Amino acid sequence: MTSIRPDLANLDRPALEAALEERGQQRFRARQIFRWIYSRGVTDPAAMTDLSRQLRETLRAEFSLTTPELVTRERSVDGTEKFLLRLADGQQIEAVFIPDTPSMTFCISTQVGCAMACAFCLTGKMGLVRNLTAGEIAGQVRVLVDALGMRAKRFNIVLMGMGEPLHNYDETMRALRILNDEHGMALPPRRVTLSTVGLLPGLERLAHEPLMPNLAISLHAPTDDVRGELVPLNKKYGVKEIIEACERFPLARRRRITFEYVLLAGVNDSPGAARQLAKLLSGVKSKVNLIPLNAAPGIPFERPSDAAIDGFARILSEQHLVVSVRKSRGRDIRAACGQLIVDGQRRSPGQTLAAALRLEPSAGNARL
Ligand code: SAH
Repeated sequence: MTSIRPDLANLDRPALEAALEERGQQRFRARQIFRWIYSRGVTDPAAMTDLSRQLRETLRAEFSLTTPELVTRERSVDGTEKFLLRLADGQQIEAVFIPDTPSMTFCISTQVGCAMACAFCLTGKMGLVRNLTAGEIAGQVRVLVDALGMRAKRFNIVLMGMGEPLHNYDETMRALRILNDEHGMALPPRRVTLSTVGLLPGLERLAHEPLMPNLAISLHAPTDDVRGELVPLNKKYGVKEIIEACERFPLARRRRITFEYVLLAGVNDSPGAARQLAKLLSGVKSKVNLIPLNAAPGIPFERPSDAAIDGFARILSEQHLVVSVRKSRGRDIRAACGQLIVDGQRRSPGQTLAAALRLEPSAGNARL
């Protein structure tokens, strides 16, 4: 039998304390180790100089520490950067850095691919390959901080990369606890936004989390008939149930739930839809984030005209909703919303289809 070495990247501090104790070490050493890994960016135990030689040897011999490997980094004309990262098993994911939104934002993945299959999303075409571990989720942040030289800087995190965070609930929340640890990055939950397509059981669990990120709901349509066409999961958890769950959701003072709404020409962008949306959200402390579709080959929808986008936004604000239109970032490097897709070694039928439908010459075999 081979003994499995715990991966330091996967352990929140209480788990690391327990693992140290089991090996005859003092629990409080976990704080020092967290400081090395998360606030100083040091991953080699040999370099953790305030630990005893014996503890460094224990870390080396009895633990591992995996960090996603940076494969390529692409910079958009608008400053957005897309990072292609390789995981220990060879699977690849993408993470995106978006500068000045107005703050710095990291868009992080929670799964390789996604099972939700939303009709306008390229990641959805991949299908779900696997969940990420907490270490892989938090590891994306470590890699981006390092690569961007942002150790002392503030940044926000949006769980809006590949995957559905509530479909990988435990690992996602553990990653947030790791990132939040006061001896590590000390990232406050108000700097984190979790975006979900509306997995209700996960949403109910989230409502009881001690560590509560901001919530964004990918709504995309005010009625079940339209939403059902766009978001397959709507057949299980419909619009009314989602809105009711949002009305019950405990919000900190001055907080609002963001409702993301991808605007698709002729599908969900009519003035009538805007009025229905306003009515639907009248009982929720909400803000609406309109996302004009990022079109892509293989996505059977079009982006509405600027006039239609403005008209839709105007109706919502006339109905007293807080509205913003998401500026598309990094479209030239396919880093924009819904454009994150990686060709794995094992392609699912959806991946093959997405790859085949790509019209541009591909810039290498690893990404769109
Ligand atoms: N699965 C989560 C996290 C993904 S967040 C969720 O659905 O909320 C990514 C956001 O970008 C979601 O609101 C998603 O609906 C949106 N999106 C997906 N494809 C898009 C596209 N082609 N153009 C614009 N936005 C898109």
